Amino acid sequence: MTIVSNIDFHCHTNASDGGLSPSELIDRAYGRGLNAIAITDHDLTAGVADAVQRAAFLNAKLLNGDADAPVETYIKENAEVNGVDNGELHRAPSERTLIVIPGVEFSTTWYDEQIHIVGLGIDPNNDSLKELEAKLKVARTQRAVAIGEKLKRLGFDRPYERCCEQAREGASITRGNYARLIFQDGKAKSVDDAFHKFLRRGQDAYVKSVWGPIEETVEVIKAAGGIAVLAHPRRYKISNMRLRKLVYEFKKAGGEAIEVSSSQQRQLDRDYLVQLCHKYEMLASLGSDFHNEGFHRDLGQNIDLPSDVTPVWHSPILERYGMGANFKQRLVHITYKKEDATSASE
Ligand code: AMP
Ligand code: MN
Ligand code: MN
Ligand code: MN
Repeated sequence: MTIVSNIDFHCHTNASDGGLSPSELIDRAYGRGLNAIAITDHDLTAGVADAVQRAAFLNAKLLNGDADAPVETYIKENAEVNGVDNGELHRAPSERTLIVIPGVEFSTTWYDEQIHIVGLGIDPNNDSLKELEAKLKVARTQRAVAIGEKLKRLGFDRPYERCCEQAREGASITRGNYARLIFQDGKAKSVDDAFHKFLRRGQDAYVKSVWGPIEETVEVIKAAGGIAVLAHPRRYKISNMRLRKLVYEFKKAGGEAIEVSSSQQRQLDRDYLVQLCHKYEMLASLGSDFHNEGFHRDLGQNIDLPSDVTPVWHSPILERYGMGANFKQRLVHITYKKEDATSASE
């Protein structure tokens, strides 16, 4: 059984290494019954405006009762809803509107470790934010070009150029873009395999990255009116002791939340992150880290916050977007219909 949460605060568009345009992502969010989504591309906010615009357009359709207003098509067509009469969702159009939170996922370097910090509720037009985006753009482009050159020497055709062509203009090119290209070229069994064969530390197309410090990044997120969230803390290859040190230093720098729930995460890991939230008095966030259509990591998929943490949307910063303490997480339990379960795979 799979659950789909109506809140997802971590996902990508083709403004970085996601496969969908911001508008397509928003359409998918309605299809999966989401009520709040944060657009968090790597190191830039270029996808936010289109997403906000698309949601405003579709929310208006829902509230006007237009015949072509969005419906929960994805769930309807691909899954059976469990524990609900007739396996159908019955929600009024007003309960299906979608809030878009402007966000970003910044890359930082912490003792040689690549640490990601999500900024939620930031003003994309803030000067400090734009300055950091510009700085990271230079570093990212240099690294992406260097990775491209290595892959070219390994026999790939125009790797950098093709990554750019596949993404939105001006996109942030990450190893995720390259991994997809390598997979498409048939040189790896999966995106993950492409990482293992070519892109991770020690492999032939690896290029070291040097991002900014956590302190500076958190400062910029706060200056831009946002809330800093430590992204997927259990995905870093560090011990519990190092993780506690990371959370301690992140909080000292002004960080306020931990991404407690992410897709494909073990219950044990979530429980540990809940403990850290209590110990360091942090708010809790949740996000799928959706990049592409696939079976295991999708919008809202298998993420949920337990009731003994304080959700990040209780923060006054997110109240501004219509969230706040009254905003409720809602989980839909589904099972995929058989034919889709076999055809949809990552
Ligand atoms: P970068 O910031 O350029 O180092 O690229 C990081 C991105 O690569 C992440 O956000 C993921 O999208 C992707 N990524 C990292 N590790 C893996 C992996 N093992 N398999 C697939 N994608 C990965
Ligand atoms: Mn990514
Ligand atoms: Mn990340
Ligand atoms: Mn991410």
